[in-house]
Parts: sequence; C-alpha cells; structure tokens
Amino acid sequence: MSITFYPSYEWQMREIPCNICDACDKDMDPFCTGTITEPDCPYINMANGNACAMLALLNLPTDECCGEVDAKDVPNVVRAIIKAQNVSARRQNATEPPYESGGPGTGQCKVISFGRNEDYITRRLNDLMDLLKHCQEKSCGFYWC
Ligand SMILES: [Zn+2]
Repeated sequence: MSITFYPSYEWQMREIPCNICDACDKDMDPFCTGTITEPDCPYINMANGNACAMLALLNLPTDECCGEVDAKDVPNVVRAIIKAQNVSARRQNATEPPYESGGPGTGQCKVISFGRNEDYITRRLNDLMDLLKHCQEKSCGFYWC
C-alpha cells in the first residue's frame, strides 16, 4: 500500500523510456517493453506509514488515506515544511526505528519495517517543497491518495 501526492490539476499519463532496466541489468525484467508510464507532473509516492508520518509532521489530516489542500492553503503547508526543515526535534518525532516481527514458528507472517530516519524525512520534506513550489507556480493545490 502506498500514497501518492499530486498537484491538483488535470495531469496526463505519459510514456517514457524505461529507467528501471537502464539502472540494472537488461535481463532483470523479461516482460519489460522498453517504456514505462508515469504522470507528466511532479509526484511523490510513499509507503502508507511514511506518508502518514509526513502528513502528521505537517499538521495535515491522517484519518483517511486521501486528502486535499486548496491553492489558498498551500503557503501554510510551505511554512510547516520550513519549520520541520529547521527544527530537528520535529523531524525526530516523525522517525521510527526499524523492526522485524513474526515469521516461522510464531504463527504470524513475517513483517519487516526498515524504519524511518531523519535523513529520509529531510529528503521527503525537500521533495514535498519541490512539489509545492510547482503548485504555487501553477496556482493550484495538491492532493494525496
Ligand atoms: Zn525496463
């Protein structure tokens, strides 16, 4: 499960050369057609837990997996990002240590979480800031789902 953040305008899907195989071995994916499709706008995808932590860090609602911020409220989120970028304690609150549970003999499926460190949070704050700058240039809001 993941949550993706998009600008609130009618973006389109586009086909681009596959950038997954180029980074690895061409034999990696025998089903690769040589192209992948992606939105023609900036977007950010995160695992649900990471997205919820970022939403909470920015004082945005986390009660549902979808939400939207109007263009007029984008500056408030930009300010929340700047605060989080400048106050380590805020970022620390959003971290999560890695953990592992379940597996053979426990009667539960194995769950591995890689956790979320401050570096990750800093990178994602920068990504969100880039997305919001784009939204401000386009005079639009953004949404996540
Ligand atoms: Zn490929």
